[in-house]
Amino acid sequence: MISIEEALHTIQDQEFTSAPITSTVSDSLGSYLAQEIYAPFDIPSFDNSAMDGYAVCGVGKSYTVIGEIAAGDTGMHQLKPGEAMRIFTGGRTPINCTAVVMQEKTKVNGQVLELEEEITEGKNIRRKGEELAKGQLVFEKGHAISPGTIGLLNSIGRVNVDVFEKPTVRIIATGDELVKPGSELKEGQIYASNGETISGALKSYGFACKEHIQIQDDYPSILQGIKNCLDSSDVLLLSGGISVGEYDFVKKALEENGVEEVFYKVFQKPGKPLFFGRKENKCVFGLPGNPASSLTCFYVYVLPLLQKMAGGHGTGLRRVFIPLQHSFEMKSDRPSFLKAHLSGKEVSILDGQGSSMIHSMANGNALVYLKRPASLEKGDLVECLLF
Ligand code: AMP
Ligand code: MG
Repeated sequence: MISIEEALHTIQDQEFTSAPITSTVSDSLGSYLAQEIYAPFDIPSFDNSAMDGYAVCGVGKSYTVIGEIAAGDTGMHQLKPGEAMRIFTGGRTPINCTAVVMQEKTKVNGQVLELEEEITEGKNIRRKGEELAKGQLVFEKGHAISPGTIGLLNSIGRVNVDVFEKPTVRIIATGDELVKPGSELKEGQIYASNGETISGALKSYGFACKEHIQIQDDYPSILQGIKNCLDSSDVLLLSGGISVGEYDFVKKALEENGVEEVFYKVFQKPGKPLFFGRKENKCVFGLPGNPASSLTCFYVYVLPLLQKMAGGHGTGLRRVFIPLQHSFEMKSDRPSFLKAHLSGKEVSILDGQGSSMIHSMANGNALVYLKRPASLEKGDLVECLLF
């Protein structure tokens, strides 16, 4: 059995050859850039107005309004001292524009403009290149594409961008007791939830589940199911059957399929019977069947690995230190990820920490990571992984 830190380092040490592909900018959300991006021109590319108001020439109190400039007007207008033009946000400022005066600070009577404030030279003019200069490095290779990134790529006119290909992920849920929601449930059976939970988690971090299948606890079926999925996946996630019970066939079936164990069992709660293995460039996780364990292991171990495979740094969930809302007795000798809810500036550890209990995961938005037994007081800082 290895420690959480050893397991995380092992994940970080995995090396992959991610292939760059060309993606449209609109499909690139959640991918990592496989190229550096430089500004192809100054941004903004022309001086323009930051306000709806009046572009004025010279410093004074009264001007003659000679025309109007709307956003998108491509003409180049010119002012002489004492002249002004009505201008709208984003409109190109005219030659000899001293400043733009916001309309709320003006009075207009016919063509006569009176100002209610002093002119400050350059005020309300967004200067060419003030955001980014032509040739400036905008994004490094490996940058994670966010909605803001897409916005900037659009504003420099990009249609396509080189990104690293995201891994193809398949999920196999194992268990004789599992019934798909929508079917009749007999006494002794449960509705399967892990497959769709993990699919949802994949989606929420910009990945996708290519296929999700369910297999009975039957060795030949599991053996064949793993073979079929492994051939066409970069990452295979299995749920259940990885513990030490009579019907836990996953580990043996993985070995039989040529998957080499990298680690098995982590000294943690929940999620002790976690398996991680590799077959060449492919990665396999045997996630524990208990729903909270399975999702916790996804957040802590699978997510950083996927991010690395996709060309990112594999930082996983954001970690922050937050004060506890209440005192808490941490009794387990195993380092624990506790389902918690962060609200405002404090975090509270939720009831229902059992590894089979998913309601606290559903109501929570963080895992509190406690490394050792301790009597914690309200206000003590605890490490939180935010999801
Ligand atoms: P296992 O790891 O296969 O021994 O399963 C541990 C516990 O998790 C058992 O109570 C299973 O019924 C439950 N479990 C396994 N797979 C799933 C699943 N896909 N959805 C919900 N619960 C599951
Ligand atoms: Mg099982």
